[in-house]
Amino acid sequence: MSNKTSKATLCVHQGTLHSEDQPGVNSPIYTSTSFGYLDTDARTYPRYFNIPNQDSIAKKLAALESGEDGLIFSSGMAAISTTLLSLVKKGDHVLFQSDLYGGTQHFITTDFPRFGIEYSLSDATNIEMFEEAIQFNTKLIYIETPSNPLLKLTDLQKLVALAKQYGVMTMIDNTFASPINQNPIPMGIDIVMHSGTKYLGGHSDICCGAIISSKEIIEQIKGTAAHFGGSLNANTCYLLERSLKTLALRVKQQTQNAQKIAEFLESHPKVRKVYYPGLASHPQHDIAKAQMNGFGAMLSFELNENAGIAQDFLRKLKIAKPAMSLGGVETVICEPATTSHAKLTPEQRQNVGISDALMRMSVGIEEVQDLIDDFTQALG
Ligand SMILES: *Cc1c(COP(=O)(O)O)cnc(C)c1O
Repeated sequence: MSNKTSKATLCVHQGTLHSEDQPGVNSPIYTSTSFGYLDTDARTYPRYFNIPNQDSIAKKLAALESGEDGLIFSSGMAAISTTLLSLVKKGDHVLFQSDLYGGTQHFITTDFPRFGIEYSLSDATNIEMFEEAIQFNTKLIYIETPSNPLLKLTDLQKLVALAKQYGVMTMIDNTFASPINQNPIPMGIDIVMHSGTKYLGGHSDICCGAIISSKEIIEQIKGTAAHFGGSLNANTCYLLERSLKTLALRVKQQTQNAQKIAEFLESHPKVRKVYYPGLASHPQHDIAKAQMNGFGAMLSFELNENAGIAQDFLRKLKIAKPAMSLGGVETVICEPATTSHAKLTPEQRQNVGISDALMRMSVGIEEVQDLIDDFTQALG
């Protein structure tokens, strides 16, 4: 397919495996862990990240992210930890933005010191300040935009210029935006990562992850990835491929719903603050317009004091579900302080602006008016 092909079409067709034995429209599932080796240089094995069902998704995601190649992992954290530990060594420094996904933050603060890898956390929304955290041994800059859970944005154009100036590689966790709403590679970011457990899988029933990059960087990571062994099995690959066919359709609807819900919540007297990049009140709304194709389906909000305690509100909801994780077809709400960011200390949470009253919502594909009616009755 040409590079002009639209994302909705790539979602359906790119990478589909066609077999000579059967003219079916769907990829066959190749479950083999033993592959013939005579008359071929290929050494195919699931843990080498090269079985056909992994390849087919890597092709689809690479096309959606405008990258050259990809690797498909058994979780988002497998993608993050494998990629980081493939690219840096003892004595190197990695610069992270301060409000990281809780699991990533926990990984670097617990495991990096044991390997002698240095790191800093700094506010990437302020590029001048962020620059000051770059060191002589900084090998990689790692960011998330929009961030979890406050939907803060990093200006990708400025970040890329900074990284190029210092000759530092860049990696972004693009999970919140999905490949439909943001493509950092054409903007100059080196590596894009997704927790496929979220929008890519989209139905809250599979755990997987992916990275997309240049052929050269993917080859470099592949060697270490085979040692860590966090590849995805063929059956789950097929479920992911099936999900990806509707990715554009789902995310477009989720994004539209989120905009309407954000506007509803912002105008509600019992809501103190709404964090959503699609609102004119978002401090970085202009950056969102410049670098995102859509504003995404994640939003956060704080109830004001009069609304009573958060859990009362959550228990009154009939459609939106108080549940963890995100990116599925169903609307879910959680309190970051007791879920995604529970592993941070109260001080660390305060430093990144996460109050106990904060609620994070992943908007689904339900009829938006039903959701608004549900919030109206639960807010009382
Ligand atoms: C869920 C998530 C991860 C980790 O992915 P898993 O599939 O749970 O391992 C990383 N980053 C973000 C932004 C996430 O939401």
